[in-house]
Amino acid sequence: AKESGRNRYSFFTADMQQFHTRNLLLENALRRAIERDQLSLVYQPQYSMVNNQLIGFEALLRWYHDDFGQVSPAEFIPLAERNGLIVAIGEWVIVTALQQLAEWHRAGYRQLNMAINLSSIQFRQENLLQFVTNAIEFSGVPAAKVELEITESAMAEQPERAIALIAELKAKGLNIAIDDFGTGYSSLSYLKRFALTKLKIDQSFVRDLLTDSQDKAIVNAIINMASNLGLKTIAEGVETAAQRDLLKHLGCDEMQGYYYSKPLLADQASQFIQQAL
Ligand code: C2E
Ligand code: CA
Ligand code: CA
Ligand code: CA
Repeated sequence: AKESGRNRYSFFTADMQQFHTRNLLLENALRRAIERDQLSLVYQPQYSMVNNQLIGFEALLRWYHDDFGQVSPAEFIPLAERNGLIVAIGEWVIVTALQQLAEWHRAGYRQLNMAINLSSIQFRQENLLQFVTNAIEFSGVPAAKVELEITESAMAEQPERAIALIAELKAKGLNIAIDDFGTGYSSLSYLKRFALTKLKIDQSFVRDLLTDSQDKAIVNAIINMASNLGLKTIAEGVETAAQRDLLKHLGCDEMQGYYYSKPLLADQASQFIQQAL
């Protein structure tokens, strides 16, 4: 027993060692990813339940490295948050997503919106408001066509500052959505103090919506609360027509998920727009 215990321990440390080595290698590679042009964005369609219309896209980061291959954002974003690289990467995301939206607007699809994810680290940056407003001005798209997705934890960190920052972003015309809504620990009383436009219902509640009565109750409560507070709702991770139908029945305003489309490369997204609109 002692022997196997020790083996287990050495397996464990070998795993930990591998984990640290990979992280170090990834971190060094990530430092050069922007200049080497390895980052890209994919765009996932978002639909309104009014007329079942394509209304815009969420920009999602992708990183392709020659040795590591495709690295998941779930792996490299936390890494980039720990070492601060997320600020430069996030700025690249904002500029690139707005450029793409401007291109679609110039092609005549001026109704389209772009949702952009913001890390809590970016949200802490003093110059965020200035950077975002400059980037929007430079791109030429109306601020009202841009939505920032922020998590509850980003808002909960320094609530008073977050309230002021969100109010300023809103005053510039931007839309603010709470991402992964329902998974954080923030107090619901915050909802009325933040100048929000939308709650994004986390996909963990959508997944078993048809079979799990508790998930259904939670989604129903979120949608009713949002509606009473004058906020829109979007459900993420919608994969089936049955999920869409139930969400629509519950009064959800917008949807996103594999049922409509997986995230698309820019060219594919352009083709998708031509077919959908
Ligand atoms: P998220 O913002 O909650 O994005 C939704 C994730 O669900 C995306 O994963 C998307 O590809 C995936 N997804 C979309 N539809 C479906 C579906 O129908 N079923 C299932 N099972 N999954 C679906 P992805 O692209 O791997 O991104 C993971 C996370 O990485 C994002 O979660 C977000 O937190 C973060 N992320 C991605 N891009 C950015 C970015 O530009 N900036 C920041 N700060 N974070 C980002
Ligand atoms: Ca998101
Ligand atoms: Ca989400
Ligand atoms: Ca998520």
